[in-house]
Amino acid sequence: MQLTGRNIIGFETFSEGTVAIQAINPANGETLAPLFYKATIEELDLAAEKAEKAFQIYRKQSGKQKAEFLEKIAEEIENLGDALIERYIAESGLPQGRAMGERGRTTGQLRLFAQLLKDGSWVNARIDTALPDRQPLPRPDIRSVERPLGVVGVFGASNFPLAFSVAGGDTASALAAGCPVIFKAHPAHLGTSELVGKAIQKAAEATNMPDGVFSLLFDDGHEIGLALVKHPSIKAVGFTGSYKGGKALYDAAAARPEPIPVYAEMGSVNPVFVLPRILESNGATLAQNFVGSVTLGVGQFCTNPGMLLLQKNEAFIAALEQHANTSTGGVMLTTGIRDAYVKGIENTKNYTKIIGVGKAPEGFTAVEPIIFHTSIEDFTQNPHLSEEIFGPTSLVVEANTKDELLAAAQSLTGHLTATVHGTPEDLAEYADLIEILEQKVGRILINGFPTGVEVSHAMVHGGPFPATTDSRSTSVGTMAITRFTRPVCYQNFPDSLLVDELKADNPLNIWRLVDGELKK
Ligand code: NAP
Repeated sequence: MQLTGRNIIGFETFSEGTVAIQAINPANGETLAPLFYKATIEELDLAAEKAEKAFQIYRKQSGKQKAEFLEKIAEEIENLGDALIERYIAESGLPQGRAMGERGRTTGQLRLFAQLLKDGSWVNARIDTALPDRQPLPRPDIRSVERPLGVVGVFGASNFPLAFSVAGGDTASALAAGCPVIFKAHPAHLGTSELVGKAIQKAAEATNMPDGVFSLLFDDGHEIGLALVKHPSIKAVGFTGSYKGGKALYDAAAARPEPIPVYAEMGSVNPVFVLPRILESNGATLAQNFVGSVTLGVGQFCTNPGMLLLQKNEAFIAALEQHANTSTGGVMLTTGIRDAYVKGIENTKNYTKIIGVGKAPEGFTAVEPIIFHTSIEDFTQNPHLSEEIFGPTSLVVEANTKDELLAAAQSLTGHLTATVHGTPEDLAEYADLIEILEQKVGRILINGFPTGVEVSHAMVHGGPFPATTDSRSTSVGTMAITRFTRPVCYQNFPDSLLVDELKADNPLNIWRLVDGELKK
């Protein structure tokens, strides 16, 4: 498929803007054709107008119809073949294996939501049947179900050009919920965005979805993104990226005459606690696996373990030094991300010691991994050391006692994940650590590493602020769908006016809570 650089607005494409931008290959610094036309405010208005009209049709589509649409999107993404993989690699500097894996994750995610829609029980249908003879007052018939919110604005992250981008988790969950999507493309992967945007457009046409159910707008500044969040047609926002970006959009949404929810998944340091007995029995392997997790994908994961906390152990620090010194970095996604990494590293050097430094390979935005060390006292006195540095680095904090380790855990802000490594005896002795961590993060892991997030029904990829702007939700897995719905209650409705999910004879055969009992 030939790239055009034109904005996708429903079933049409436009390039009314006069300013054009280009993607850059981070491996060699070369610009990549074609020119992409920055969307104009008029184009945003058109996308919003079409999306609002589309919502009146799309919100009434059955689970089966929406599932067909999502499955067709997955198929059209696969039909893009090598062109998508080649463009992904050129724009991100990420290797082929990662590109293929991420494509599989993206199509798998779409198909998982399709399965959820076909099953249908996700809508949380509740029925309290009428009690006409109840004294002193009769109870009316009360029924409720999750209904779609409206048009959703979505922003993708640079570090997942497929799985957290145009057809990623936010788009998939919004479309599954019954909400049209207007997507602001990330300037770091413009071509990948257009290819996937075209696949969605084709799938929408092929499955008879309404014109405007999906639009894709290009921009490399904040004008279109901010206007999207402020647009009266938009009823919710999904975002993955930096704290700065997520918080700015959250504030803009809160300041609207009609405030709307912003589900922003932002930075996280993902602390890893290694307990004393496992350090003794398995320290060398843990050190190796830890450095592997820190350097995976050049550390460009929101689940990258940016901090390790332990009680003093010299052998473990020596093993870390050895593995850090033999590690290799890689090409970062953009010059901006590389510059932020280098700045963060230089600043951290002023407050810490270096345990080990790896090598940087050839490449325009290539960087080296680095592992830092600090004492619990210095860590406590320099709270900025617990801020995220996006890239292949981590800070090891050595405490003297269990109480100091617990105090460090207590001082943590919100994160996406926390990990505890321990023997069964360690875990029993440090049960109070788990109690603290449960109040700090969205996912706690035992004896694993946080990088690698399963897309499944029980997954939670979220956490208290500042990891996200709404800790009650997840941006990965099928639970993400309810971010874009709201419960609506129908009182004393005749059966003919009810949606199928609530009708008396349960035509969709879904699980429903009837008078407090879960039934089909
Ligand atoms: P980003 O800079 O926050 O950008 C994400 C998207 O939001 C882009 O489309 C960006 O548009 C837009 N945006 C950012 N600030 C905005 C604002 N004030 N107003 C309107 N739109 C705005 O994230 P990124 O480029 O993916 O990565 C940069 C940093 O984010 C990294 O260094 C890292 O710290 C963090 N990060 C976190 C995660 C995570 O999963 N939590 C993932 C990736 C990155 P423009 O680019 O056009 O400005």
